[in-house]
Amino acid sequence: MSTTVETISAAARTAPAAVIVAIDGPSGTGKSSTSKAVAAHLGLSYLDTGAQYRAITWWMLNNGIDVHDAAEVATAVDKPVIVSGTDPTAPTITVDGEDAAGPIRTQEVTSKVSAVSAVPEVRARITELQRSIAASAESGIVVEGRDIGTTVLPDADLKVFLTASPEARAARRSGEIKGSDLASTKEALVKRDAADSSRKTSPLAKADDAVEVDTTELSLQQVIECVVTLVEEKRAAK
Ligand code: C5P
Repeated sequence: MSTTVETISAAARTAPAAVIVAIDGPSGTGKSSTSKAVAAHLGLSYLDTGAQYRAITWWMLNNGIDVHDAAEVATAVDKPVIVSGTDPTAPTITVDGEDAAGPIRTQEVTSKVSAVSAVPEVRARITELQRSIAASAESGIVVEGRDIGTTVLPDADLKVFLTASPEARAARRSGEIKGSDLASTKEALVKRDAADSSRKTSPLAKADDAVEVDTTELSLQQVIECVVTLVEEKRAAK
């Protein structure tokens, strides 16, 4: 009995403190790949907040909502049940119990998501969901998005803002999308970033206390190592 208690308290003494990591930045900077790898490496949960905005957009499109009518979007905002699985090695997203991981990545959803995510009622609902997921992650979590460091989790232990040149970002994205050409990928990406950066409610922005990492000339492995080091330093200081 006393051995068990001693073992547990020894484990508690050596267990790293829970750490909250916010990773923001525009599309194509390597946020998802970096965030998943860092979370898996450090035993943290992972949340893809872009997938949640995509999921609500997909539901709106499927349910005949005019996504360019903010008032119509706002009235429907509480209807879909969105559930995110936070295992970084197998993240999931369901809408009303249906697996939405594939359909939320279509061109149609990608081209409409900025309009939906700009609606304040959408942001309020998704932000609340994100905060509750982060609060229930016992060992800590890596949350990636556009406004995590500025709005969703302003007290995060570490905030990282990833950037890269539009050319590098477009090249990475068109490598991910079969049959896409570089020029149109770059145009679509720059347009989406402009919409995300200029919306009134919690735009894409770097928090004042975020560490900016320009990934243009870095390999994915180098970015992962850089962020892992930053998290480990924060953990050691806790
Ligand atoms: O990261 P991803 O490209 O999947 O994000 C899709 C869209 O979701 C973004 O273009 C943006 O409109 C929205 N988004 C947001 N806030 C976040 C994450 C994503 O507005 N925290």
